[in-house]
Amino acid sequence: MDNLMPAAFVGHGTPMNALDTNRYTEAWRAFGARIPRPLAILSVSAHWFISATAVTAMAAPRTIHDFFGFPPELFAFQYPAPGSPDLAAAVRNVADPVWVGADEDSWGIDHGTWSVLAHAFPDADIPVVQLSLDASKPLAYHLELGARLAPLREQGELIMGSGNTVHHLGRLDWSSPDAGYDWAVRFGSAVSERLTEGDPASIVDLEDDPDFPNAVPTPDHFLPVLYLAGLAAAAGRHCEPMVEGYAFGSLSMDSFVLGSPAR
Ligand code: ZN
Repeated sequence: MDNLMPAAFVGHGTPMNALDTNRYTEAWRAFGARIPRPLAILSVSAHWFISATAVTAMAAPRTIHDFFGFPPELFAFQYPAPGSPDLAAAVRNVADPVWVGADEDSWGIDHGTWSVLAHAFPDADIPVVQLSLDASKPLAYHLELGARLAPLREQGELIMGSGNTVHHLGRLDWSSPDAGYDWAVRFGSAVSERLTEGDPASIVDLEDDPDFPNAVPTPDHFLPVLYLAGLAAAAGRHCEPMVEGYAFGSLSMDSFVLGSPAR
């Protein structure tokens, strides 16, 4: 055990997980309960996918309901955690020379973040900052930026990617709530193998995998796992599974932890 704050990637799945209790949400809750209390949380969410790299820098981020077609109680959900201009400044500092914009008023806390934190840190009393995903950059940019964030772990900041390593909404199979297509399981296993046994940095090579176009039809939900892979590469350590599984054929619910000291 070292004194680095653990880092994580969480497969968030449907926004309804914010309100539900299932084996995934229970794993997220157990993770939050077993790690040291973070000074603040930096979330890299699939749902802030824009044409720039930015951090939320407001003192009081709003809860964003960035979805449609869900019940009113999900739109009423609030995650009133404060922001952290200090963590936003620290992110911009460690990322240098990568330029990171300071977002004062456009974003906040989206459901990729709050659907998970509602379980991991239900009191919403730890400051939360989000880092955007720059849609214009190649996979290697995200891996390298993740590695640059490593010093934040030494300062007690929790870095959490939130997406899904396999995410193809156009191919959801509602008759298979707890199973994955063969290609989904193959690709999800390849990601997991690189994080937990192989070379985490080699995860970017999966762009050439024959299953990539099915598993990652758009990069938004995949990119957050590259930040954890970058942190693992920077630490010279493997990740451990937090919880594993597939949902509706084309979603992987796999989550991973880097450095998980027991408390
Ligand atoms: Zn999502």
